[in-house]
Amino acid sequence: LTQLFRPLDLLGMVYRTIRQGLIDMEAMFALVDTPQEIRDLPDAPALHVAQGEVRFEAVRFGYDPAREILHGLSFTIPAGKTLAIVGPSGAGKSTIARLLFRFYDIQSGRILIDGQDIARVQQDSLRAAIGIVPQDMVLFNDTVGYNIGYGRAGASEAEIEAAARGASIHDFILSLPDGYATRVGERGLKLSGGEKQRVAIARTLVKNPPILVLDEATSALDSRTEEAIQGVLGEIARRRTTIIVAHRLSTVVDADEILMLDAGQIAERGTHQQLLRAGGLYAAMWARQAQERASGDAAVGEAVE
Ligand code: ATP
Repeated sequence: LTQLFRPLDLLGMVYRTIRQGLIDMEAMFALVDTPQEIRDLPDAPALHVAQGEVRFEAVRFGYDPAREILHGLSFTIPAGKTLAIVGPSGAGKSTIARLLFRFYDIQSGRILIDGQDIARVQQDSLRAAIGIVPQDMVLFNDTVGYNIGYGRAGASEAEIEAAARGASIHDFILSLPDGYATRVGERGLKLSGGEKQRVAIARTLVKNPPILVLDEATSALDSRTEEAIQGVLGEIARRRTTIIVAHRLSTVVDADEILMLDAGQIAERGTHQQLLRAGGLYAAMWARQAQERASGDAAVGEAVE
């Protein structure tokens, strides 16, 4: 009988190995399905980020050229400032973040970082300059230390620990059975949404990029975790040019500028106060979400009683 089972064991092992490979690949491409046709121009220079100004000039783009998603978008984020992008689902918010990484080439217009067209610089140098804290990070099946150190090849243990402290996850890691050597991911310890997000933040701190993209999670974390994470993110966004792709308006009130995107166009722009005063789409969305928060809190209150 054991003879009969051996090939099945082997098959099981092959299956697990392949599945694992897929999970690791998924982790690498969690942000987007990277298309293959994006190539560096011959002799493309490296991007040099001195200040970190990001500028979109009349950007037109569609995943399928027959269906344009962004219809001539222009905005500038001065170095070190924070831009929040809000708007209904499908408006094109995440697409803007993907274009900044040049995961796709645009149909017309230009995207510039410190005056350099991102389509004309080496992609490696472009991606090294931008850090992303994604909506939902898939962890590598490896140690928690590896998952943080992945932010930059050659990161030392001390740098990994400093990043974990910065992301307020160091103490949690020390409480794990093997500390930084604890295996996480599919085959290891499962981390909660908030813990995974902190690992993502720590990884970004190790990378220490001048430009930051925060893709806010659609699924709400509990409000205390949410607050703690907002605090950490606010801190790391302070000295960097930052784009926040936001679903909850409560997280964008401090942004230097907010773009209200609607169907691939900027419907409104300004600070939180300016947009509230304008009494348009943003003000309506704010009122609706405030009401939802209030009734959510009321529901929690009822449950506690
Ligand atoms: P949400 O708030 O729901 O995350 P969003 O504003 O970030 O939405 P995008 O993800 O930028 O919206 O999508 C904008 C449009 O582009 C949508 O109509 C979507 O269907 C389309 N789209 C997004 N990704 C792709 C893709 N890989 N291929 C084809 N179309 C896509």
